[in-house]
Amino acid sequence: MLISSHSMDGLQTENTGLNSINNENTEEQYRALAYDTALSTLVAVVFYVVVKVSLDGIRQWRARISVLIVGSGPVGLTAALVAVRSGKVLKLTLLDERYRTALLCRPQQIALDPRSVEFLLELGVDFDNMEGCWHNEHFFTKIGVFQEYLLSILEQKRQKVEIKVQLGTKFTEEYLRKIPGSDWPRVIVVADGSCGDSCSVLGISSDYTVESCHAYGANATIERLDQRQVPTPEIRAHSLFFDLSAYGVEALREPKSSAVKPGFHLKIYGTFRNRYMALVCPASDTKMVRFLRHTANSSIMKNIFHQSFNAYKTDIEPRLNDLTLHRMQCSRRLFDIQLSHRRVSAAYIEGDNVSVTVEGEAVRVLNFDTGCGVNLGMRGLESLGTFIYHTATAVDQNDMLEALSAKIQHSRQVAETFRQTGLAHTMFE
Ligand SMILES: Cc1cc2nc3c(=O)[nH]c(=O)nc-3n(C[C@H](O)[C@H](O)[C@H](O)COP(=O)(O)OP(=O)(O)OC[C@H]3O[C@@H](n4cnc5c(N)ncnc54)[C@H](O)[C@@H]3O)c2cc1C
Repeated sequence: MLISSHSMDGLQTENTGLNSINNENTEEQYRALAYDTALSTLVAVVFYVVVKVSLDGIRQWRARISVLIVGSGPVGLTAALVAVRSGKVLKLTLLDERYRTALLCRPQQIALDPRSVEFLLELGVDFDNMEGCWHNEHFFTKIGVFQEYLLSILEQKRQKVEIKVQLGTKFTEEYLRKIPGSDWPRVIVVADGSCGDSCSVLGISSDYTVESCHAYGANATIERLDQRQVPTPEIRAHSLFFDLSAYGVEALREPKSSAVKPGFHLKIYGTFRNRYMALVCPASDTKMVRFLRHTANSSIMKNIFHQSFNAYKTDIEPRLNDLTLHRMQCSRRLFDIQLSHRRVSAAYIEGDNVSVTVEGEAVRVLNFDTGCGVNLGMRGLESLGTFIYHTATAVDQNDMLEALSAKIQHSRQVAETFRQTGLAHTMFE
């Protein structure tokens, strides 16, 4: 059969047309397949992410841990409140070696500065329901009143969190050994004060870094049992110079420094029954400061406190006279004010899967009473809620270590900030 070339050409053209249609179809099919695959992968990824985020969210939301707090001083009790407010605590145990009466009857009062007041308000503390007084935005109350109030709030939180308060119970190795395995805490907060030894029970180093605050100070206490034990505002006096000419020291005025007011700064605080005094001056090498730093005559310091008390006390409290002066105890001379803070402020105990954080005077303490000491402890607690949250929701050890590292960093920052500006806020202003 003969087929003309013309018709052959037509056939080829037709075939080419058919091929290109086929190619186009296949390409379209491939494109549709690729699109379908991409879409289903995307849907799977989105589904996976949504499920994971929801499961993580549920896990984080459900995560609850046991927390043990050692020490029921103002810092330990506030730590307990922070723990309860974190929403991540299932069981809270609070210890103190003192029984209730001994715990609540300490004579000192505490002065909460505006930042601590703000912090405590956020935790639900109602200052209107606490015996105390306000002065210059500071709240003054007896340490026992504050502790009792916090214990009563914790009592009310018992419906939400299982809270066990064990007063008259010392934290020891034996106490630790007796905790049943199922009750082991995931977080231990050590707030056992400046004399506590709970860190050594947990194997935490007792090494301290001691740093000068670049100021000299002296403290005095007066106990007068016939006076009232009610919260009393503090009194501050600045730029004081003492006449020590009787001891051969001229009261030469120091050159004015722009940072702080020159001379000595005095604070009278505490209740009328337990009066405390703090005297501070910026570190310098003037003749008077040198003399008061090195004198062997302890009656000079006593005289300074005596005169200062009578000059600046409130009108309604009696003067100190030669008969009542023996009730005053004071530093023999001016000393360098130093802040000591633990080298290890938080630790992870691997075998037991427990994170430990040290708070309050157990972690940082001054060798000088400023009359505002409790605020330093409150600063450290500002990172406790986040620490508990991150520890409770940690997926693995890395997460726990990250939480600890942030806590340690914050603790260092609290100490450093105090060294830079703390005395200025509590004494020089
Ligand atoms: C004389 C004096 C006057 C002061 N005046 C003022 C002031 O006017 N204003 C102010 O703000 N601050 C003042 N302070 C400072 C203030 O009292 C402290 O800052 C504050 O008490 C520190 O709180 P904390 O909870 O860290 O320690 P603490 O109050 O010492 O509490 C620690 C608790 O741990 C308990 N504990 C110890 N070891 C164990 C253990 N192994 N097991 C169980 N429990 C244990 C102790 O019994 C104690 O109750 C003053 C301090 C003193 C000493």
